Amino acid sequence: MNDCIFCGIARGVIESGKVYSGGDVFAFNDINPQAPVHIVVIPSQHIAKLEDAKDPAVFSQIFKAIDIIVKEKGLDKNGYRVVVNSGRDAGQAVPHLHFHILGGRTLNWPPG
Ligand code: 5GP
Ligand code: ZN
Repeated sequence: MNDCIFCGIARGVIESGKVYSGGDVFAFNDINPQAPVHIVVIPSQHIAKLEDAKDPAVFSQIFKAIDIIVKEKGLDKNGYRVVVNSGRDAGQAVPHLHFHILGGRTLNWPPG
């Protein structure tokens, strides 16, 4: 999908602070961080939202990447949060499936 920001980031056409790439997964620093560490992890192929991801391999690759990233950033020591916003009510702003990794501070619960 040519007009998708995250497809552009995964292809390297749009600049981002790359954190990880491997297999079909790409991760980058969020442009508007909500915590000291705020990383966005995406499938490189365009998947619009959570329920459109039919292939379990997508999730195994995403969570393998998340595991590598949280250890590399030292987030496994004190904890972190993984968030998916899917659809309008959740406030999904970019229609390309993405997983937020948030850490580096105490995170409030419940979210707003
Ligand atoms: P959502 O609200 O859709 O779950 O989250 C989208 C996230 O992508 C937001 O946290 C937003 O700051 C981030 N974001 C949107 N556009 C860009 C961009 O062009 N570059 C980067 N690095 N992050 C972006
Ligand atoms: Zn896309």
